[in-house]
Amino acid sequence: MEDSVNGLILMTEKEDEDIPQEFETEVECPNCGSKLYFIHYRTSISYEEGIEIDTYFCKKCLYKKSNISQLSRGSHIKLVLRVRSSLDLRILVYRSPEAKIEIPEYFADIEPGEQSTGEITTVEGILQKLLDRLYLFDSEDADPEVINALRERIDNAIRGNGEEFTLVVDDPSGMSRINSNRTITVKV
Ligand SMILES: [Zn+2]
Repeated sequence: MEDSVNGLILMTEKEDEDIPQEFETEVECPNCGSKLYFIHYRTSISYEEGIEIDTYFCKKCLYKKSNISQLSRGSHIKLVLRVRSSLDLRILVYRSPEAKIEIPEYFADIEPGEQSTGEITTVEGILQKLLDRLYLFDSEDADPEVINALRERIDNAIRGNGEEFTLVVDDPSGMSRINSNRTITVKV
């Protein structure tokens, strides 16, 4: 019977120990006041230490808040990756809360945000963020021709036909990681 086949598949998934368990907590949802659920997830980025991801979420209104932390704080480092091809756009980047991102070829700096959590993104995600910033610049008194030219270059890079560029993650906490064995780590 169709149903029992589905039942079996479901049971197999439930028995998989790799799936993080969720717990109901006493913490109330800031949106709707329901009890939040909590998931603790520990994973590792290749070549490096583990990171922990704690997520609170509301089943009723879908509110969600994640906190990412690395297990130990290090010393000030600069991670440098030469981005050569469209394949490199998929490389994972863990950016700690204190890390600044620089792409010298695009005259770009992304300062650490106000929020206290780190983020897991990709090289492409960083380019996308940069592009979003450029749209903001439009409203200020920057030279529109310069901005347009830069936007076109970054756009090409996102679509995989751009020139090579250098991604620098400057991190006083030493906790950021670029998930590629071509990454050069410079102690500052
Ligand atoms: Zn809620």
